[in-house]
Amino acid sequence: MNTEKKIITRMAPSPTGKFHIGGVRSTLFNYLFARHYGGQFIVRSEDTDKERSKPEYEKNMLDTLQWLGLEHDAFYRQSERTEIYKEYIQKLIDSGHAYAAEASNENPNMSVIRFKNPNTKIKFTDLILGDIEFDTTELGDFVIARNMETPIYHLTVVVDDGLMEVSHILRGQEHINNTPRQILILEALGFDRPEYAHIPLIMSPRGGKLSKRDPEVIPAFEYKDQGILAPALINFMAFIGWNPGDDREIMSMAELVEVFDINKVQKGGGAFNIEKLHWINKQYLNLLSENEFKDYIDPLFSELKSAPFYSSEMMDKITPIIRERTQHLLDVQNMITDGELDYYFVQPEIDSEKIVWKNDTREGTIVHLEKALEIISSFDGELTVASAKAALWDYAEEVGKGNLLWPIRFALSGRDKSPDPFTLIATLGQTISLQRIEYALVELKKA
Ligand code: GLU
Repeated sequence: MNTEKKIITRMAPSPTGKFHIGGVRSTLFNYLFARHYGGQFIVRSEDTDKERSKPEYEKNMLDTLQWLGLEHDAFYRQSERTEIYKEYIQKLIDSGHAYAAEASNENPNMSVIRFKNPNTKIKFTDLILGDIEFDTTELGDFVIARNMETPIYHLTVVVDDGLMEVSHILRGQEHINNTPRQILILEALGFDRPEYAHIPLIMSPRGGKLSKRDPEVIPAFEYKDQGILAPALINFMAFIGWNPGDDREIMSMAELVEVFDINKVQKGGGAFNIEKLHWINKQYLNLLSENEFKDYIDPLFSELKSAPFYSSEMMDKITPIIRERTQHLLDVQNMITDGELDYYFVQPEIDSEKIVWKNDTREGTIVHLEKALEIISSFDGELTVASAKAALWDYAEEVGKGNLLWPIRFALSGRDKSPDPFTLIATLGQTISLQRIEYALVELKKA
């Protein structure tokens, strides 16, 4: 690979839809490659398709790249460069490399501009795929513009890559069949030939290529809404079809820039493994401070803020419990939707059958909860998980752990599944814990 010349890469998306994760990966590889060699990274909006291109999609793309920290050194918009393309179409016509012709048998009156194919063999060494040879004869005299004002992709991409001095074209493997046409045009225009690296497509974890029908293929910003942190998504995407060659799995952008090597990108596509993304995200969540994590989950608690026992002290106490179980925001959302956190904020309903431990009786449960009431109400000192456990443990052992601990836990949470009773006591505090055990006793005695 020639790294003597100035390294310039580009990402050239067509803004015809929201920016998807496939685009993120191509951008990332272009970015890492350019930064690794101290080169430049260009973003070019290929918005020549007037019907399908939308400014809001371009904005979505730029916002996504900004969120992910993939900043560019220059930005261009093809719709503003029509005059430039016109000049180059004219050059091709003047030099005999292109000509106006009838479009097709179906539309004989509409003329187009065709490239005069020299019918040669094109060879290039792809940085990922190795030596590639194409016989261009079968391409015929292909269309490069509908008219002087309306160039098509092959022409605009070559003119821009040439004028912007792009040294390396890193793009998805779906573009490999475009490369011979583009090399023919660039040679006719006398531009230097860039180097090419066609990046393997991302594979679906269910086999085959990842496609729009796969649930993983969503606009990158939806991952943000799901609570995926930008460095986690970057880290994850970098490792699809590439790795640093050692056992590191968590790498910052700076570390990736340092070691990224396009020659080490695997020929076969790597799979998009969502569990891996969630695991990586968890590693980055672990780096957040307590307050940062509270801010991270805060938007999901807007409704619970009006619940009877909601307080910021309660939030402080339950944040570590939530944090332990969180890989991304959907986990927190599920805890809320399933009512798993409700008992921290509202008095739970008590089922007077379920509160009785399987080996115990209603009468026994009443005795044990009354004892618990006595122990907890006479407790002084700081109520922590350990001190709550120390206070109750002897009695629990004496009467059988389940006989005491199950009904306490149930009185406090109203649920079969919840944290252990000591964690609940420490979290809810002495007053609320006592109120709830009293309430459970009332329900038990009623039945
Ligand atoms: N505009 C093209 C696309 O969105 C990409 C062009 C290229 O990378 O050469 O697929």
